Amino acid sequence: MRPAVGGFRGGHGGVQVFGVRVGAEGLHTIEGLHTINVEAGKTPSGSHADAAMLPGLSDEDERRAAPPGRKRRVPVLLPYPFAGPFDYALPDTLAAVPGDIVLVPLNRREEVGVVWDAPGAAGEVPDRKLRPVSAVLDAPPLPAALRRFIDWVAAYTLAPPGEVLAMALRVNALQPPPGPGQGWIAAPGLAAAETPAARLTPARQRVLAVLGDGRPRGTAELVRATGVGAGVVRGMADAGLLLPAGLPALPPFALPDPARPGPDLSPAQQEVALALREAVAARGFSVTLLDGVTGSGKTEVYLEAVAECLAQGRQALVLLPEIALSSQWLERFERRFGVAPAIWHSDLGARTRRITWRAVAEGAAPVLVGARSALFLPFPDLGLIIVDEEHETAFKQEEGVVYHARDMAVVRARLSGAPAVLVSATPSLETLANVEAGRYRRLHLPTRHGGASLPTVVAVDLRAHPPERGHFISPVLVERVRETLARGEQAMLFLNRRGYAPLTLCRACGHRIQCPNCTAWLVEHRAKQVLTCHHCGHAEPIPKACPQCGAEHSLTPVGPGVERITEEVRTLFPEARLLVMASDTMPGPNDAAEAARAIAAREVDLIIGTQIVAKGWHFPHLTLVGVVDADLGLGGGDLRAAERTLQLLHQVAGRAGRAGAPGTVLLQTFSPEHPVMRALVSGDFKGFMAEEAATRRPGHWPPYGRLVALIVSADTAQAADEAARDLGRAAPHGEGIAVLGPAPAPFAILRGRHRRRLLLKARRDVPVQRLVRAWLAQVRVGGGVRVEVDVDPVSFL
Ligand code: ADP
Ligand code: ZN
Repeated sequence: MRPAVGGFRGGHGGVQVFGVRVGAEGLHTIEGLHTINVEAGKTPSGSHADAAMLPGLSDEDERRAAPPGRKRRVPVLLPYPFAGPFDYALPDTLAAVPGDIVLVPLNRREEVGVVWDAPGAAGEVPDRKLRPVSAVLDAPPLPAALRRFIDWVAAYTLAPPGEVLAMALRVNALQPPPGPGQGWIAAPGLAAAETPAARLTPARQRVLAVLGDGRPRGTAELVRATGVGAGVVRGMADAGLLLPAGLPALPPFALPDPARPGPDLSPAQQEVALALREAVAARGFSVTLLDGVTGSGKTEVYLEAVAECLAQGRQALVLLPEIALSSQWLERFERRFGVAPAIWHSDLGARTRRITWRAVAEGAAPVLVGARSALFLPFPDLGLIIVDEEHETAFKQEEGVVYHARDMAVVRARLSGAPAVLVSATPSLETLANVEAGRYRRLHLPTRHGGASLPTVVAVDLRAHPPERGHFISPVLVERVRETLARGEQAMLFLNRRGYAPLTLCRACGHRIQCPNCTAWLVEHRAKQVLTCHHCGHAEPIPKACPQCGAEHSLTPVGPGVERITEEVRTLFPEARLLVMASDTMPGPNDAAEAARAIAAREVDLIIGTQIVAKGWHFPHLTLVGVVDADLGLGGGDLRAAERTLQLLHQVAGRAGRAGAPGTVLLQTFSPEHPVMRALVSGDFKGFMAEEAATRRPGHWPPYGRLVALIVSADTAQAADEAARDLGRAAPHGEGIAVLGPAPAPFAILRGRHRRRLLLKARRDVPVQRLVRAWLAQVRVGGGVRVEVDVDPVSFL
């Protein structure tokens, strides 16, 4: 429960606002914001907030003067979903300027908030009702560029500004700067062989393995790195296996050395690196698309831009779609600059978080690599933002504040006066459209580095070359795997589906086993002997008999997941050393790094994996990639299904033949004539994207038009229908606007909630934020009904 608001006008209960943006009158957002396109790099205009926003982003350092006899007041934004800041009185004993982190009373509690720029949303609260700021905290202030960014994101996504602020204040700023912590080292002389086996459970062995490098680690870090419980660590300490050791006061955010020589760049790479360096040295906003085939040296080249940023004395931010799978990237960074970068993602421990947040705020972390949430860190002087794999949907946050980190990175760069570089081998149509419109510049690397050729891609028509009954790998692919292994090279089989089988069917009555909470089939996980829902986590034992008709031995798995492919591969290649890479088989962040190491060290012959394997791995001995089901992902009515399938499969394909030996990619498909397969085989992405553009342009589908999705959810179907119908009746009309729905969402029930969707489709010049705000303000929804707004939706489920 959120605290209810007392003593302030305009709090509208506070509680109900959470997650419901309906009827939030007085929403403190910036009028006229609709004139901004994320990509246009324009500044907001015609708004009352402009004066505070632009053009200079420097902090005002004069205090708000109060007329004689009146209290000095400051607006304070709190990290809760309120419509805007609240006014507080600033006692004479305190000084506070925008950005300062303060402690203020809210209800009967003290809350951390940030002194904001614009006056409180609640309007004029009389002096006598103002409550005083309790304290100004000894914490680095939120820089003006970050405050403007928070306002911007809130206005664009229609999220309450306080909810956006919460993403920037995740760190408990109340805590004093962290002092040295208490950690553990392995007791000296503790070689596994000397230790009685009884004491060394596998869990304990994992802990010792992690501590093997002699660096002390805190309990929380050990728990994260090994997946063991804190009790195991405590038990080991009690048994004398671990000794206490002080943790370093601050992690070594040592300065990366930009003067260290990088690799000798090819002429094409040099040209691109120079252009990027110039963009950084210009110390102004620009957006560049860096595209180039997989293995062309894009990373190598953008590290040159990072070097320039360091030389300029500004901070660089690199966003990676999946930081937990980026061990190889981090190693490369360290090779290039001599030290590790600061890291930011949701799994960091509280202590590291606090240290990192402060280091960023104080400019002591020159380079930070992070997940999308890193955009909300308090960089005082950001000089470069890189978005690697910019086409990745992982950059879209779907929960809480729904935003696209690639688009918001461009906004952040603009507000910081810094260049943004979007990197991909298969750029999104959104980005390509911006290039075409002249808003983004494009730099291109046409060939793989060092003369390595791109893999040969072949479609295997499953109609002509079907697998054996009950199997999923075509004889054509089996043969190629056999040849590859015989040559001593590595092969990889890709299937983007966890578990054993995606569907369990009763042969007697045709019943399909469904999740009780979701419109989804349960997925069999044979190793764990359960059926689970990949959406809500529901799990149940695999039943012996059909729950519908009671027939025994009639339940049969339909279709493959990686577990089933693994089973098939074991019988086909009993000698091969297998490695399965899926998010449920490698839960810890170190698992993927260890897998990558084992593959590079040739301790593995055959890799079977889900999309984890598609990430930017560099496996020099891998020469064959087999895509088990290339058609997966093309079904459903998703606007971007084809584009996304192409991007994913191209990335998987890009793992093959990155070093000397040429690579081959086999796509198992039932429709080799599909444009996605044709483009993968021919390598003609330009042609494919041109076709995509041609299909989306006439109907004003993104990026040639705008979409805003409203997702209505409720405990009962009736409540969801009613609210959706009311919203449908109040839908905006007009030139260039269409509202589709309401209709049941593809997941009509998700985690027990009934869901309906409406989709606003508008021409690009339509001010959708204002439209949607006005629309929502007309409709009152019942208790328990939630309306989520998704501007620029990526998922349509
Ligand atoms: P991309 O990011 O385009 O996939 P990378 O930057 O990862 O390409 O480069 C692919 C591989 O080639 C990496 O192992 C990288 O270290 C190597 N490489 C790229 N350019 C050079 C170069 N100029 N000299 C030496 N190695 C290079
Ligand atoms: Zn479920």
